[in-house]
Amino acid sequence: MNQHHPDSLTLMEFSAGNMTEPHALCIRLHLDQCSQCRSRVDMLDSLGAVMMEQQPQVSVSGSMFGTILDRIDNDPVEPEPLQHGRPLNPLQKLLGEDLTKLPWKRQLCDASVLDISDHFPDQTEQVVLQKLTAGGRAPAHTHRGQETTIVLQGAFSDNKGVFKQWDFVVLDEQDVHKPVALQGDDCITLSILSAPVKLTGMFTRLLNPFIR
Ligand SMILES: [Zn+2]
Repeated sequence: MNQHHPDSLTLMEFSAGNMTEPHALCIRLHLDQCSQCRSRVDMLDSLGAVMMEQQPQVSVSGSMFGTILDRIDNDPVEPEPLQHGRPLNPLQKLLGEDLTKLPWKRQLCDASVLDISDHFPDQTEQVVLQKLTAGGRAPAHTHRGQETTIVLQGAFSDNKGVFKQWDFVVLDEQDVHKPVALQGDDCITLSILSAPVKLTGMFTRLLNPFIR
């Protein structure tokens, strides 16, 4: 079962259809594997439908809105067993089934990157796949904007914890992190960068031209 989930506001944006295509893709990939968040989105969808029906007679106050979010956050949900033999997920439909066979670009000994922004021509954020060899380290970096990441394969750890397959994490300029891939599988993540990554370690000058 996943430890790192999108927060309620993010799920609400998703339910309301207020997301760019790559952000919605990250949420869909997570929902596909996380029954807990799926139930939350179902509740939000129902709530949205009720609010649409009631408009314009009923408005939701700030405190009521907070209560609803709290209930959604604290509502216990029984995890469903994962199904096998699932159809291709939306990312596999876009890029093919085997992510390891994509034309990765090597950044530093352990880290590779593939910019897939071209698949989302209607938006301005950078969309990248990042791969870290099993047991490998990524260069230390901060983020100038927000980075939304979902783990597609393997797992990595940093100062905030361990992030496993289908975990969801949002980082911003406050976070200096130095991800290390766990042993076993290469770690592949899908990230949406609202601004370029800024390297903080000794390779900064060497790598900045390559990490945009
Ligand atoms: Zn979840």
